[in-house]
Amino acid sequence: MAKEVSPGVKALRKVVEDVYADARVAKKEGKLVGWSSSKFPCELAAAFDLNVMYPENQAAGIAANRDGEIMCQAAEDLGFDNDICGYARISLAYAAGKRASRKFDPETLEFVINPNSGKPLKDENGKVVIDPETGKPKKDPKTMQPYTVLDDIYEIEALPETTEKEIAYKNFRREAIKPYRQMRMPQPDFVLCCNNICNCMTKWYENIARMCDIPLIMIDIPYNNTVEVDDTYVAYIRGQFDNAIHDLEKLTGKKFDEKKFDEACANANRTAKAWLKVCDYLQYKPAPYSGFDLFNHMADVVTARGRVEAAEAFEQLSRDLDEAIKEGKSTTPFPEQYRVMFEGIPCWPKLPSLFKPLKEHGVNVTAVVYAPAFGFVYNNMDEMVRAYCKAPNSVCIEQGVDWREGICRDNKVDGVLVHYNRSCKPWSGYMAEMQRRFTKDLGVPCAGFDGDQADPRNFNEAQYETRVQGLVEAMEANKAAKEAAEK
Ligand code: SF4
Repeated sequence: MAKEVSPGVKALRKVVEDVYADARVAKKEGKLVGWSSSKFPCELAAAFDLNVMYPENQAAGIAANRDGEIMCQAAEDLGFDNDICGYARISLAYAAGKRASRKFDPETLEFVINPNSGKPLKDENGKVVIDPETGKPKKDPKTMQPYTVLDDIYEIEALPETTEKEIAYKNFRREAIKPYRQMRMPQPDFVLCCNNICNCMTKWYENIARMCDIPLIMIDIPYNNTVEVDDTYVAYIRGQFDNAIHDLEKLTGKKFDEKKFDEACANANRTAKAWLKVCDYLQYKPAPYSGFDLFNHMADVVTARGRVEAAEAFEQLSRDLDEAIKEGKSTTPFPEQYRVMFEGIPCWPKLPSLFKPLKEHGVNVTAVVYAPAFGFVYNNMDEMVRAYCKAPNSVCIEQGVDWREGICRDNKVDGVLVHYNRSCKPWSGYMAEMQRRFTKDLGVPCAGFDGDQADPRNFNEAQYETRVQGLVEAMEANKAAKEAAEK
């Protein structure tokens, strides 16, 4: 039976679909479409009615659709190093025209189905059907997929179209590109980059601008060595906001529309407040949902936080969660025995593998750092600048520890699971020291595992399972010791 989905979740799904669909339409109509880093102030582009897409969100989607490896490899074949962030590699390959596509026979124009793909076929009683010949479960033919191959949109466009056969082949090759939205995102006409996330971002966007020969609008937000954002930082970044506005005026040939800007700011604040409220429902014990649900909703807060529809959808989700609390419902499909903070970005290609041992041991993810980091709340331009200075990788370790320990306390966690993400070195680099502080300050055990947000080659399921098991044993011992001390 299909999983019941709340009205808020349905609305959020539609918001993201619409963002991608609007960009595809805009491109067809010859309007400008930009690509932006996730924490570039979207309010500036909204003042010009620009359609903007988000390569980080796109890369996460491509990875979750299991095409991270083929795209990362494509970037490496173009000369980008394997050590570069997986999101950047996927995006750079995409910007170069590479696409994950479905293999087909050029003579018959039929897809070549991979016999290993597909879900097990089930009978009318829901039981897996066993193939008498092989003794193995039969595959449901409806779910079987063609082999994945790499294609190139520029190669396709250069193909001849002189005969009917050539036209049919060219069209089929276009259609064979995987049909999910992230693999059909329009190519950029300009790029917007803010390096409050990391400095890899700067080089990544410079490369897109170079490869596609398009303008780059850059906002440099320096790393903060202090908890407070210094006034000199604010002045430096404010000047760049003005510069970005000037560049956008040049690009679009339009004047900065203050009314549209104010509207986008109001929407972005409303979205951020509703989003933070949704995040706070994880404080309930048991929680009405899991941090994995939050990860899924991040697409909205990244791609659409300046749209009123995103604010409304998160407000609806918040009402849904109120109901779930009243009715004692949760989306987590097991009783919550332990509560942990999941540190870092999830391994998108391996979500089922991440979830499996957590489910087995009754571990619910009730705290995440990545999600609330997108809750930018401000009242004026200077506060907006300060808000955009507070990204997880641009603040000092004291601020980072303080944020996390606050979330751990509020969300009542029994332990911390740390993703040492090979892609995200700025995030993973200081995690060993953070782990030490969490255990010292909060008295909770921590376990780390090696993985990657986008490149499945960097994740080892067996290691992950062992680490989760170790964490569970430590949490169990901690619980027993606390109970004994209370007696
Ligand atoms: S912050 Fe990490 S994950 Fe994001 S772009 Fe930078 S290196 Fe990649």
